[in-house]
Amino acid sequence: MSQTPRAKCYENADFWCPPGWRRIVDALGTQLTSLRVDVGQVKEKFGDLRVYLSSIPANSAKTAERLIWMAEDLASVTCQECGQSPATKETIDGRVMRVCRDHGEFRC
Ligand SMILES: [Zn+2]
Repeated sequence: MSQTPRAKCYENADFWCPPGWRRIVDALGTQLTSLRVDVGQVKEKFGDLRVYLSSIPANSAKTAERLIWMAEDLASVTCQECGQSPATKETIDGRVMRVCRDHGEFRC
């Protein structure tokens, strides 16, 4: 079940992760859990990954922010459907998504 977050930091989060970003979000979750950070929300918005924190120990804030920034950056070149790179933003059925060639303009 792809919508069940595995990492502890996502336990109380409003969580929605596209299948292609699952690995990125799981890896981030493992790192954030080790920093004792709690995530408030994970979502895809206009083709970008967005991760919002609900609680951050002061001494972890910088590291947590950097990890999230790296994950969002990685997602920005990764197809949200299948995880392939490169991926670009495209509007599909009126919705902005981050997709590879297979899931973008050549989609039937
Ligand atoms: Zn794809």
